[in-house]
Order: sequence, then structure tokens, then C-alpha cells
Amino acid sequence: MLAVTVIVVLRNDGQQPTADPSRPTPSYDSPYDRMHRRVGEMLARRSAAMLRGDEEAWLADLDQRRTALRERERMRFRNLQQLRPTRFDLASGGALDIRSDSLPTSNAAPPATGRFAINALMQFESDVQPHFAAYAYQVAVSADTVRIVEVFAPGLKTLVNNPRRNGPTVRDAPWDAEPLRASRRGDVVVFASRNSRWDPARYVGIAVRASSFVRKLWGDRPAPKGFAVLMADDREFDRWFAYGSEEPDTDHAGYVNCPDIAEPSGLRKLVIRPKESVAGCRIVLRMSTVDDDHRAYTLMVHEMAHAIGPHLLRNTYHGDDAERLNSPFWAVEGFAEWAENTAGGAAETRAGMNVVKRNWSRYKPMSGDRDVPLPQNPRFYSADDTRTSFNYELSAAFYHAAEQVGGRQRAVDLYTEFSRRPQLVSDTHFILDAQLEKAGVDPDRMWAAHRNLIR
Ligand SMILES: [Zn+2]
Repeated sequence: MLAVTVIVVLRNDGQQPTADPSRPTPSYDSPYDRMHRRVGEMLARRSAAMLRGDEEAWLADLDQRRTALRERERMRFRNLQQLRPTRFDLASGGALDIRSDSLPTSNAAPPATGRFAINALMQFESDVQPHFAAYAYQVAVSADTVRIVEVFAPGLKTLVNNPRRNGPTVRDAPWDAEPLRASRRGDVVVFASRNSRWDPARYVGIAVRASSFVRKLWGDRPAPKGFAVLMADDREFDRWFAYGSEEPDTDHAGYVNCPDIAEPSGLRKLVIRPKESVAGCRIVLRMSTVDDDHRAYTLMVHEMAHAIGPHLLRNTYHGDDAERLNSPFWAVEGFAEWAENTAGGAAETRAGMNVVKRNWSRYKPMSGDRDVPLPQNPRFYSADDTRTSFNYELSAAFYHAAEQVGGRQRAVDLYTEFSRRPQLVSDTHFILDAQLEKAGVDPDRMWAAHRNLIR
């Protein structure tokens, strides 16, 4: 059984340190110190407002004359409420461009304005750990108040002006980008932008069915409490989470956005080790590829099969030998594709296996020194769509075969085992077969079943 690491998160609850009676209270309290204290108190008020669902308190520290800002913050609040934040901590990352000698010392003086880096630590119902997002607030500082005059959400554009070049781990989040409509039932919340032609209420029942299929498959293994499904048109699909900026692609029907886990201090992790797991997964669907309810169902099953085990997903590692240090894509995508085929029914599984049969000689997955019939990480996601489908189905065949030999739960066990280890140590029969035996699946019977499915 896998255990999710629990990290202790220091809450920024705005309390001042208890005074030490043996020391005299400092009598010097500069305008600069006062500004920082007021910003800290304001962030504590906003954090508490988000957690208790108090919209008026969330809006109270804004400059009330800025109606556009007020509407945007109201939108952000209502969007985030639908994700059910279980942790929400805003903390100051420091003043970016305010000089202490520019601060007003009396109420007669005009306010000074400047920008603060705002570190947001957030965890939603669909997450298993908190993630970090880098906002920035423009504030007006008068002698006795601070007011928010603008909020910059983490995005590709704001990143350019951000002195921390490596930037936030969540960019252009849909909840920051546009008003969302949400429909919630059970453990699932389905979103679409307010003017979208896809109505969340129309799809929430399908999402609930997909969720129960995946949860039944998953059993009592560790899992997030809920799923967040975001239905996107083509533009939103690329824009949300800055997805299109990283890997422009037109043929994916869905993806999961899985942010890094925040540092316990509430900051973004600066060094992500390849073995690090992710904080949670948000599901984004390209609705233009969804022809009917059955496709909506199987696509949701595929993405939920990824999202059910965030603690098993690893950050993609870039660098020397990255391909082989990463988890095997066959283990991760094969599992989701197997779940999708299984939910789709016998005909869908057959069609998938036929893709492999038809293209076996063309793609020769066992050429060179390869001795296992599984696709390797390089070229797994190929520019050649047929090769990509071949790789997905060949990977799914591994789990179909494991299910035939050892049953469905053993197949899930194999996913929890192989998704955690780098491909480096899982791509020979020597290693694979030892793991299969350990999991109680006879390797000879397993590979014979695999051959029958795909050759
Ligand atoms: Zn997938």
C-alpha cells in the first residue's frame, strides 16, 4: 500500500509574534515596517475569507473605486470556491519596487503605489498536496492603510515582468482567466467558461459515471477526494495552464495539468527532483473532439485514470538521459488507455488491439537491443499520429494481458509499481519479469497473453 507523504505547512495566519516581556518593545516603527505589517494583515484577512467563503471580506481590501478590479476579484473568488479550497494561504514575497523614502508619513500626503510579490499556497479538493502560484498585487500605501489597486495573476505575460525567472508552477489558470460556470455532483465538479457552448450541467452525470468506474477500479488505494473537469474550446484548451505555449499540439483530446508540490514554507520548489510527485491533477478536455456522450465518458475515464493517483505521477525530468530517468510513458499512458478501453467495452478494446496488429511490422517495437514489446519514452508522443496510437494501445495491451492472467486488481498493482520507477530500470525482461512475479502475475503466461492480443 502506498502512503502519501504528509508535509507540515506553516500557516501565515497574520498573528504577530508574542512579545517577549524581557525585551523592551521597539519604539521605532518606520512607515516601511508599518506598510509590510499591513500587507501581511491584509493577506491573512483575504486567506481567511477564501477559506470560509466570505466574498465581501475577500473584496474588502480592494480600492472600491476600481469596479473592473472588483469584478475580476469576485470572479476569481467564485471560481475558486467551486474548487473547494482546503488550504489557501497568501503571503508576501516582499515589495518589488517601493522605496522607503517614497512612503507618506501623514494622511495629508498622497499615497505611494508599488508592487508586492504574493506567494499563494493552494490546495483544492481534487489535490493531495498544496501547490504554489506567484501573484503580484499593486498596492496603494497611505499613512494608515494599504489598498489593492491591481492584481496580476501568474501567466506567461506576467512572468516576463517577474524577477523570479523560473516563475510560478501554475500559469494562466482558467479560474484566473475567465468567469466559469460549474456543475457539481458527488465528487465531481465540471467547469466551462460562462459563454461556452458546452454546458457543465449537461455533462456532470457522465463525469459522475466516469468517476465511479475509475474509483471502482482503483479500490481503496490513496486517491484525491474529487475530480475537477474543465471543458475547453480549442482556444481555451491551448490557453489554459499555458498548455499551448509549451507543446503546441492539435491532436490531443485531453490532458491533466499537475502542478508541483509547494515547499512546506509556502514557496515554489526551486529544484524539482525527477522522483518528485505532483500536487494534484486538473482535467482539461478539448470538447471539439467529443462527438457523443460515449466519447465524453471514455475520455473522462482516461484522464481520471491519470488524476486518481497524483502521488504516482512524476515530474518530467529534463537533462542528460532524461528520457530514461523519467517514468515509463507506457506504464502511465497504458494504464489510462486500458481503463478507457475497458470502460468503452469489448469492441473498443478489440479496435485498439487491431491498431497494434496492423502496424506491428511498420514500427518494430522490438528492434535493436530491445527485448520487451513495449514502447520506449523517446518518440512515445510522436508527430506521426498512427505511431502515437500504436504506442498507447501497445502499452494498454500490457494491462489487458495482466488482467487476463492475474485479474483486474493485479493489473492496477502493476501500474502502481511501474509508474514509480524510471524507465532505466524497467525495460528489460530481466527486471520486468521479476516485478511481474513479485506482483503475482506469471511472466510467461502474461507475455503469451500479450502476444495473442497484438500479433
Ligand atoms: Zn493520457
